[in-house]
This record gives sequence, C-alpha cells and structure tokens, in this order.
Amino acid sequence: MPATILDGVKIAHDIRGEVAAEVKAMAAAGVRPGLAVVHVGHNPASEIYVHGKVKACEEVGIYSEQHTPPENSTTAGLLVLVADLNRRKEIDGILVQLPLPPQVDAKKVLMAVDPAKDVDGFHPVNVGFLSTQRPGMVPCTPAGVIEILKRSNISIAGQEAVVVGRSDIVGKPAAMLLLNANATVTVCHSKTHDLPGVCRRADILVAAIGRAAMITRDFVKPGATVIDVGMNKVTDPKEFARLFSGNAKREEAFRKNGSTLVGDVHPEVAEVAGAITPVPGGVGPLTIAMLMFNTVNAAKLRRASHVPEFSRA
Ligand code: NAP
Repeated sequence: MPATILDGVKIAHDIRGEVAAEVKAMAAAGVRPGLAVVHVGHNPASEIYVHGKVKACEEVGIYSEQHTPPENSTTAGLLVLVADLNRRKEIDGILVQLPLPPQVDAKKVLMAVDPAKDVDGFHPVNVGFLSTQRPGMVPCTPAGVIEILKRSNISIAGQEAVVVGRSDIVGKPAAMLLLNANATVTVCHSKTHDLPGVCRRADILVAAIGRAAMITRDFVKPGATVIDVGMNKVTDPKEFARLFSGNAKREEAFRKNGSTLVGDVHPEVAEVAGAITPVPGGVGPLTIAMLMFNTVNAAKLRRASHVPEFSRA
C-alpha cells in the first residue's frame, strides 16, 4: 500500500492561521509582535528566503523590517546593529540570515542576539533551554518536524526514532525534540557503521543529510514514518531520469525549469513507508510557519504572559 503523504502545505497553512488569530488577539490588547531580518549582501538564495519571511509576516499581521548592510560589512558593524535591535522594545524577534560573508565572524554575531529575541533558536542559551525542557526558542525546521508528526496523529512516545544528520540547525535539535517527546532516539552521521541497518530500526526516520535521494527503500522498515528534511537541487537530466522517470508532472516541470527540488529520500521509499513527507511541500513550508510562531511566542515570553503549548514536546 502506498504511504500516506503528510501534507506540509496544509499543516503550515493551519499554523499560520492560528498565529494570525493570536496576533489579532494581541493587537486588541495593544501589542504587535515585530520581527527584524538582517540580510547582509546579495546572496540570491537568501534574498528569496528573506522575501518569503517578510511576506509571511505581512500575511499574519506581524510587524517586520529588513536591514540590508552591504557585502563588505564587518563583524563590529553588525554587532552594533544587533545591539540596537536588542534594545528596541517593538522588536521581538531578530533573524540574521545565513550565510554571512566570509570576513564576518558569524558565531560572534549570532551569539550577540538577545536569547529572548533569538527566533531561530540557535543561541547556546536556547540550545540549553531545549535540552533541559525549559520554555525558549526552538529552531524552526525541527519544530516543524514535530508539528507534522503531532498534527498527523503519529505517536512519538516509546517509538524508535532515527535522525540522520547531526547539524546544530536541524539534526541535533530534531533529535532533542524527539527525545523530549519520549522517543528512543538514535542520531546518525557520516561515520555511522551500517547506516541502512540502523535506519531500518526506525519507526520514525528523519533524514537531514543534504544528499539527493540517498535514503532508498533498503533503509526503511515497512510502515515507518519518513520525514524528509533535505532540499537538494537536481539539474543533471540523467540524475533526474534515474529518480523521476515516468512522473509526467515532474518531467514537465523539469523541462520548464531545468532543475527540480529533491529530498534526501528516494521517491521509491513511498512504496514501503507508512507515511512520508513530500519534497517540495513537506517540511519546507513549516519552517516559515514556525518562524511566525516563534516571533509571537517571543513577544509573549518577553511580556511574561502564557506560553502556547504547541511545539513544546
Ligand atoms: P549539514 O549541516 O551539511 O549536515 C548534514 C549532516 O548529514 C551532517 O551531520 C553529516 O554528517 C550528515 N551526512 C552527510 N553525508 C552523510 C552520509 N553519507 N551518511 C550519513 N550522514 C551523512 O546540513 P543541514 O543544514 O543539517 O541540512 C540538511 C538538509 O536539510 C539539507 O538538504 C538542507 O538543504 C535541508 N534543510 C532544509 C530546511 C527546510 O526548511 N526544509 C531547513 C534547513 C535545512 P557529519 O556530521 O559526520 O559530517
């Protein structure tokens, strides 16, 4: 039986609706959450991401502003900007779009963001809050993974979860959230022995690797839930044909665009998994939805009002 497709577009839409309702209620109480996005230089991919974030703010009613320091910005200059945003009362969330230019000490800049405004959840203080199950900012993509599971009624407690990838941005926080939700968690990486064998133990398999279609059916226990975080651009027609030959919709889009977005999970996995997130349309849309959620959550936490329950494991 083919896997149930976990529709990230719909789940993200629902979350954005809930956030918009929260923003409306806060506005009635005279509070408008605000997000500042710092986008240094002219990285084309970053420009698309920043545009998406600002547009999402408009849609849910969050105040947003963009700061666009030049490509030749220095660490010291960005620290001044971050300090100013830290001080401003109407700014609840600060997002420094990565990557930063090579001359900038990115760790120093991220470390300077007030943890209470760190809507990306990358600051070590928030990493500590997550690992000790205290209220704080949770990184958006892993928080989205948990929302997909919960809102699709997939049980986490007591399940074997395997996360492939141990980055600070996705793999590690995803593993921590699953652990906090009482899964039995294994984290794999490039030095893991017998990766397919370890993955086959998973009831919930999270792929956050950055390698197109690496997770094939041999990695997946029949009936498992597979969450594909990967976003890889495939431009090679041979590679495309290997993955999607016979998929008329994909073929047409590939002919038109010259590329296609592929996850870390091979499309054939949909034949063995019980449930699976598609790429595109799975985890991706959740990332911005959770950024909106985090901004509202930051506004609430800073004003010491109640903390919404969802996204807390
Ligand atoms: P990353 O920092 O490059 O980390 C990749 C991880 O995968 C590393 O831990 C690495 O192991 C592991 N890995 C690489 N090759 C492997 C192999 N052959 N076998 C086992 N493990 C291997 O990447 P990331 O930032 O976590 O992102 C992962 C993917 O998610 C990318 O495709 C990225 O584009 C995507 N992503 C999507 C969203 C979204 O909104 N949907 C957001 C963020 C990222 P080592 O640690 O041993 O090197």
